[in-house]
Amino acid sequence: MSDKYIVVSEARDGELRHVSFEAIAAAKEINSDAEIVGVVVGDGSLEDSAKELIYYGADRVISVSHEKLKTYTSEGYGQAIMAIVNDENPSGIVMGHTSIGKDLSPKLASKLETGLISDAVAIEKDGDQSVFIRPIYSGKAFEKKIITNGITFVTIRPNNIAALEKDESRSGDISTKSVDVTDIRTIVKDVVRKAAKGVDLSEANVIIAGGRGVKSEDGFKPLYELAEVLGGAVGASRGACDAEYCDYALQIGQTGKVVTPDLYIAVGISGAIQHLAGMSNSKVIVAINKDPEANIFNIADYGIVGDLFEVIPLLIEEIKKV
Ligand code: FAD
Repeated sequence: MSDKYIVVSEARDGELRHVSFEAIAAAKEINSDAEIVGVVVGDGSLEDSAKELIYYGADRVISVSHEKLKTYTSEGYGQAIMAIVNDENPSGIVMGHTSIGKDLSPKLASKLETGLISDAVAIEKDGDQSVFIRPIYSGKAFEKKIITNGITFVTIRPNNIAALEKDESRSGDISTKSVDVTDIRTIVKDVVRKAAKGVDLSEANVIIAGGRGVKSEDGFKPLYELAEVLGGAVGASRGACDAEYCDYALQIGQTGKVVTPDLYIAVGISGAIQHLAGMSNSKVIVAINKDPEANIFNIADYGIVGDLFEVIPLLIEEIKKV
């Protein structure tokens, strides 16, 4: 094994986020012969998370556990990961393009004095060279980037690069590294999370998004029902958030979340360019709108012209029959 790739995993409420497994697959796409070293940072026992990384393709895992790493801070996580990078001297680092990844990766890249390709959605091969594809101009175009020297440091957008099949028969070395975590200027006193119903929006495979056409907070109820039967999450346009039909945590678009589910159902959303910036890379887009001229139909794979309050109950009824 010539190359070595470090994959920085990420957990939420003690569970590894799926993008951690996608990052392992991405590292293997870059170099299928490379040794993949998973990294888990946190507090308490990280053994289960380490095993999960091995089941999804890591060859070995290094964990750093410290009471000061219970919640994410860029200083704490940065110190832990830099200590491992300094020991391991990897050819590459891969992590998710999540809120944490977006915060941490540029800081690590600057410490390592290397470049960074952020938000890659696919990796192609040109001979031995890896070509990273990333969206630009709010998803209206894609650029292809290569790394010519230094560490191959990449963040990948969740839900775009398929994780490998979980294989519980895999085994690998799990070691712990003790890091003296000092110099943390940020102290996280408490994390207050709004109660979110159902599946996490950024990792959902199915999203039902409502717009101003949903007309009220109550109008979102059928959307939640449809999300439940499809095992998906509910999102929203900024129009719906501004009108206080739902929380801004659900906003999708240029100034909201960027999502790439397998199925995106836009309900009562006109299709403003700022909304499309957050969802146009979804694999299949279905639009429900009573205006046949609505712009959302220009990017939809399937369109239903009709009143959402009639269409959604019919959809739920039909899906329940299957
Ligand atoms: P509308 O444009 O009002 O559309 C409502 C739609 O519902 C209409 O097409 C109508 O035909 C349909 N409708 C009404 N009643 C029914 C019914 N009963 N059945 C079926 N259809 C019905 N927007 C975002 O979404 N995300 C962003 O991140 C974002 N960022 C922005 C950043 C900037 C700097 C700016 C300037 C704007 C941003 N916007 C964003 C706002 C964006 O420009 C639009 O104003 C917004 O997306 C419109 O939301 P909407 O489609 O829900 O509402």
